[in-house]
Amino acid sequence: MSEETSTQKEWAAPEGSWASSPGNRRSMLGNRNRDTKPELLLRRLVHASGLRYRVAAKPLADMRRTADLVFRPTRVAVFVDGCFWHGCPEHFVPPKTNPGYWREKIGRNVQRDRDTDARLAEEGWLVLRFWEHQEPAECAEEVRSAVSARKRKLLGL
Ligand SMILES: [Zn+2]
Repeated sequence: MSEETSTQKEWAAPEGSWASSPGNRRSMLGNRNRDTKPELLLRRLVHASGLRYRVAAKPLADMRRTADLVFRPTRVAVFVDGCFWHGCPEHFVPPKTNPGYWREKIGRNVQRDRDTDARLAEEGWLVLRFWEHQEPAECAEEVRSAVSARKRKLLGL
């Protein structure tokens, strides 16, 4: 069995601690293995729960911003925010070179995120944002329950 296959198996049914897993340790070390990306893990888990969604789609046609998972009928937009690029309060550390530039740049990203949230909310969307450091199984459960609740509401149940 290749290492990749065993990693996928491991993540198909996550057990134990996410942080202590070899896959995550590898991605923390900077090896960008697609299969261990938190966003991909979340997508797999949500897909396995039977929900269907669009990937990297624009929730609003006239807004040039994409969400990671888009549930159009129930109007749920899910974002998995990278700890660096979106300024995670726990993990963002500006690079030693040009820290001012980076703080400003990341600050603009955060503002843009809040603006995206506000515009989506105005159009009746539910925005779910997760940090890439969050446990994918917990995020998937939150997505699942939010989408089901909105579905029930749409059906008038
Ligand atoms: Zn973080």
